[in-house]
Amino acid sequence: MGVTFCPGAPADGPQEWGASIVCPAHPPQDQRYFADYDAAVAGLADHLRFCTDPYCGDPVAYGAFVVVHYSTDQEPSLEVSSVNARLLLRALGLAAELGADDVREPAPGGAPPPLPEEPNPLIGSLTAEQMLGRVELALALAPPDPGLPARDLNATNYDFGRVEGYLQDRLAHLREIALYAREHQRDVVWH
Ligand SMILES: [Zn+2]
Repeated sequence: MGVTFCPGAPADGPQEWGASIVCPAHPPQDQRYFADYDAAVAGLADHLRFCTDPYCGDPVAYGAFVVVHYSTDQEPSLEVSSVNARLLLRALGLAAELGADDVREPAPGGAPPPLPEEPNPLIGSLTAEQMLGRVELALALAPPDPGLPARDLNATNYDFGRVEGYLQDRLAHLREIALYAREHQRDVVWH
C-alpha cells in the first residue's frame, strides 16, 4: 500500500475538462475529444470507425473505455511506499522517531500495557506554507541518504531498498508540490 503526497482538492472541486476514449492502440488513433463522460460513452459506439488497431474491438478482452479529464490531472504529486512515506514523514518531523519509549516491557504476570492512541501519520494535511517550511528544514538538516541495499525478506517478499540520495530527491519533489499548492492557495495532503 502506497502513500500519495499532492495538493489538496480545489475549494470548488476539480473541474471536468472533457473526456476521451482509451483503447489498446499505440499511438491512439481515435483522437476525438468529448464534452463529457456521457458524450464519450455515446462515442464508444463508433470507435471502430476511428480506430483500426488489430487488438482493438473485442469489447470484453480489449475493450475501449472512457477517461474523464480533470483540471487536477497534471498536478504534481508524489507516490511512495508506506515504508518510504514514514522515512519522509520522520524527516519532516511529522512522524515520531522510534525511541526508547517505544520499547514496552510487559508487566510481570499481566497483560502488556495498551499502546497509546496515535493518529495514523500516513494520512494528514498541512498548509502549503507549513509544508514548505518543514521541507526546507529537512533539506537543510537531514544527513545525505546513503540508501538501503535491496534484500530478500523471505521466500516471497523482496525489499527493493532505496537508492542513494533517495530522501533528498523526494524532499525536492515534495517542495515542488508545496510550491504548486501555495501558488494555488491549497493545502498539501497525503493519504
Ligand atoms: Zn481502438
